[in-house]
Amino acid sequence: MQTFRFDPCRLPPEAEALRGEVRAFLSDALTDIPPVVRAQTWSGYDPEFSKKLGAKGWIGMTWPKKYGGHERNALERYVMLEEMLAAGAPVGAHWIGDRQSGQLLLRFGTEEQRQMILPKAAKGELLFCIGMSEPDSGSDLAATRTKAEKTDGGWIVNGTKLWTSNAHNAHYMIALFRTNFDPDNKHAGLTQFLVDLTTPGITIRPIKDLTGNAHFNEVVFEDVFVPDNMMVGSEGNGWTQVTAELAYERSGPERYLSSFLLLTELIRELGRTGDTSADAEIGRLVAHLVTLRQMSVSIAGLLEAGENPIQEASVVKDLGALYEQELPVKAHELAGVEPMVGTGSDYAQVLGFLTQASVSFSLRGGTREILRGIIARGLGLR
Ligand SMILES: Cc1cc2nc3c(=O)[nH]c(=O)nc-3n(C[C@H](O)[C@H](O)[C@H](O)COP(=O)(O)OP(=O)(O)OC[C@H]3O[C@@H](n4cnc5c(N)ncnc54)[C@H](O)[C@@H]3O)c2cc1C
Repeated sequence: MQTFRFDPCRLPPEAEALRGEVRAFLSDALTDIPPVVRAQTWSGYDPEFSKKLGAKGWIGMTWPKKYGGHERNALERYVMLEEMLAAGAPVGAHWIGDRQSGQLLLRFGTEEQRQMILPKAAKGELLFCIGMSEPDSGSDLAATRTKAEKTDGGWIVNGTKLWTSNAHNAHYMIALFRTNFDPDNKHAGLTQFLVDLTTPGITIRPIKDLTGNAHFNEVVFEDVFVPDNMMVGSEGNGWTQVTAELAYERSGPERYLSSFLLLTELIRELGRTGDTSADAEIGRLVAHLVTLRQMSVSIAGLLEAGENPIQEASVVKDLGALYEQELPVKAHELAGVEPMVGTGSDYAQVLGFLTQASVSFSLRGGTREILRGIIARGLGLR
């Protein structure tokens, strides 16, 4: 039976040096942002903050310099990301482009697409969203029905994408469309496109989630023209490409640090009251976090070495989401403060936000059941 690889990985000195620089920047940049806003971290939208990070060289850090990148290594990028998330920086505007769309264009895009898109994305001036899910196609992504039909010079698109985070703020969507239908092979006939969201025929409708925020959307395509030169990769290769994209989506530190701000606020709250009865439980939560971090850094090391640790990334995302969802429950038990929304202490509001938001952490980016299916397949159990 195959087993998991979590090789020990030590961060190189240049990554640790960068940590100090990022912390110094954040301690100034985040002074006026309240904890409940910082609790949103990688779903928090602040385009001006993204531009500041672009100017620091912290977007597209690993991309080639000729496309506006900085040619730094993946472990330096990892350290920058974990500092951003731990501090609760509002990195949501450029997150998708930095994490996956840029990588996808580097791997499958044309030279024209890279030159047109990447330098602006690295400055934090050009934002992306992911057009995969549809009303009847989430976990079963190969059931994608939004259709792109060939016409002179391009494609005519009709259909609906759903749950598209930040589509209302993004400039481009990397979208998965059906360009051919083979009833015997639904994974064939899928193709990715770079879609300019200002194109006529696109309607973006916000959807409110449990917290009252409208950060994701329904995106309807009605006879939308997408030119030939906006196809990403080759026709019919969409399934392979989208699978590569999901590996980037599932492996980063955001998959266990989404509730981190609550842990620091909980420790502050308990410290304020002088209550030591929760010390052992806090120790367990911190030890659990440190273990998850070691596993996640190990994956970053494998990615830096050019490997594709899909099983290991699924393990970290599943265990990470369990941890992120356990934190609000434990925090409620330990501090005896009720979660509040829109009013109450900073701690009560952070608890309120994460009690509501964390429900979705085991859905976005692939559900718990789907990840466990991938793990089982990797272990040869199915
Ligand atoms: C906060 C948030 C942001 C999102 N942002 C985006 C985005 O930007 N772009 C985008 O494309 N999508 C986005 N999504 C959509 C997300 O990828 C899907 O919600 C997810 O893939 C699940 O699909 P679904 O909602 O259609 O649920 P379904 O696939 O219908 O699943 C429903 C339930 O059935 C279970 N299930 C389904 N199939 C199986 C199976 N084979 N075996 C066992 N159990 C199964 C699932 O685990 C789940 O519990 C976002 C979702 C959330 C919550």
